[in-house]
Amino acid sequence: MNYSVTILGATGSIGKSTLDVISLHPEKYSIFALTGCRQLKKLAHQSVQHNAKYAVVNDESSAEQLSVMINDLNGSTEVIFGADALSDVASNNQVDIVMAAIVGAAGLLPTLSALNAGKKVLLANKESLVMAGPIFMAAVKKHGATLLPIDSEHNAIFQCLPHNYSDANQSSIKKLILSASGGPFRGWSAEQIAAATPAQACAHPNWSMGNKISVDSASMMNKGLECIEARWLFDTSMDKIEVLIHPQSIIHSLVQYVDGSVLAQLGNPDMRTPIAHGLAWPERLSSGVADLYLSEIAQLSFEQPDLVKFPCLQLAYNAAEQAGDAPAVLNAANEIAVQAFLDGRVGFSAIAPIVEQTLESFDFYEPESLAAVQESDNRARVTAEFVIKQLEF
Ligand code: NDP
Ligand code: MG
Repeated sequence: MNYSVTILGATGSIGKSTLDVISLHPEKYSIFALTGCRQLKKLAHQSVQHNAKYAVVNDESSAEQLSVMINDLNGSTEVIFGADALSDVASNNQVDIVMAAIVGAAGLLPTLSALNAGKKVLLANKESLVMAGPIFMAAVKKHGATLLPIDSEHNAIFQCLPHNYSDANQSSIKKLILSASGGPFRGWSAEQIAAATPAQACAHPNWSMGNKISVDSASMMNKGLECIEARWLFDTSMDKIEVLIHPQSIIHSLVQYVDGSVLAQLGNPDMRTPIAHGLAWPERLSSGVADLYLSEIAQLSFEQPDLVKFPCLQLAYNAAEQAGDAPAVLNAANEIAVQAFLDGRVGFSAIAPIVEQTLESFDFYEPESLAAVQESDNRARVTAEFVIKQLEF
């Protein structure tokens, strides 16, 4: 069988790793559509190299430029654009597998389209699940979609859970333990963290990732978003989710059972492992990742997270406890704050207060529809911008 794959966010870090794994197995996978946003040249090359049927961008002018580039490369990929086009390539009946790897809230609609069409969805775009957890999981159930976690921690937990994981055997699980590297600022003083530059925040010690998730890892908001992600993916409560700092990023997460057993998944820190796992599940596939030699690593260490130096983690825990639209507000305010930091408008230590002040100005409620989630997301962005403007003066 040859599976037809759409990659949402093909030009990003996860998109590239997905294409790398797929290139190793041309007899098993072919590309239906690749999508990108600003990196048109890269998308043109990827589309021609992988013989994609469609390439998707957001607007007409980008589509025109991309068509010229693809023609110049003698490619035959058809270029389409806009939000409907993005959703169409995620739900098209020729597609078997959708990799959801757009960064941030922009990934919500196409990922939901794929779920509503009952696809096998490999979820990297955690922000969409954080924003709209109940709607997302209801779509999975209603349309019989398969949602497989690609985030390395969640993929590890998924691998450590029983195959028949359901309400019936949840009582056998005591804790889901998400490991965290601690990011580039682990061990830094509060003063050093306050003066950190975007380049320092994006220089992750173990993982090579896009800028937004790199900054989230530095602030530990990434781990907070991941706790909320785990809560929805594994249908559990926040008090069963724990964070453990493990600087070597070899143990990707653990499941603690009531009988005292703790199961962990190990591997080199390389996203091609969870991507290959998701693509092939329930089978296995070679990924190109180097073998793990524990004797060379020699030592694995662990510590508790520091919630004082990294307040974003506590903000995310609080938002998860509040539920309703609090996680969507947290996520939107964080996206705005991170972009302001990357643009040099605010310092690194302003990220947490921007998110906190945005959350404080909201009366949370349970959004029943996607439109209600988007409304909370929009309002949070406007509020966060307002907070930033006040900081700038
Ligand atoms: P990148 O920034 O490298 O890539 C993001 C992708 O999204 C690019 O293809 C980009 O297009 C596209 N994109 C950005 N904005 C828009 C938009 N408004 N509309 C449509 N497409 C858009 O991010 P990563 O690959 O690192 O991360 C992707 C997702 O996976 C994130 O949600 C992240 O949290 C998650 N993730 C990533 C991990 C990693 O190791 N990188 C690990 C676990 C999860 P273009 O570049 O052409 O502008
Ligand atoms: Mg992760």
